Amino acid sequence: MILSLADLSLRSGERYERIYLLEFAPIVQGGQEYTVLVPDGVHVMVDRVTGGYLVKVALDAKVYGPCARCLDEAVVEVHAEQQEFAPTAKDGWEETEASDFIKDLMVDVDSLAREALILALPSQVVCREDCKGLCGVCGLDLNRDSCHCADEKSDERWSRLKDLKLGEGAQGGSEGSAEGSGETGAP
Ligand SMILES: [Zn+2]
Ligand SMILES: [Zn+2]
Repeated sequence: MILSLADLSLRSGERYERIYLLEFAPIVQGGQEYTVLVPDGVHVMVDRVTGGYLVKVALDAKVYGPCARCLDEAVVEVHAEQQEFAPTAKDGWEETEASDFIKDLMVDVDSLAREALILALPSQVVCREDCKGLCGVCGLDLNRDSCHCADEKSDERWSRLKDLKLGEGAQGGSEGSAEGSGETGAP
């Protein structure tokens, strides 16, 4: 959907407002694919201001896909908004200040809405905030059941730590030489 700002014939202070029903291609995050639905459409507002146009998009999306932790089905609702400025005169504006989505007063509404949505998405889509995820050792869904992998792991670490401490203790000399002898004198 390309919206031509010039064709709106807005006078200074006037606003154009419309809802566009757009299709969104799936979003890939963390190697997983998420389906996007925007049932109420994308709300587009254009304000004619001094020196150009303010273009704003707002949308409410439902994003469906696997939970990033347990891979079960997850749905998140996201509200996204983004505003861009399009100057009517090119003079006096740096390239870097120009919107990536507006070229020659033509707005790429799909890309702008998609960018807004991606920025508004949580870094991880999860089935629920306190999802415990899958056990990294045995793969069990920890929301449904519990395993003892974590216990065994921490036991192992503890015993190693104890050995280490004992070892250091055995070397036990004065502070200054302890570090040096620890390195060279290890069995
Ligand atoms: Zn989950
Ligand atoms: Zn486990």
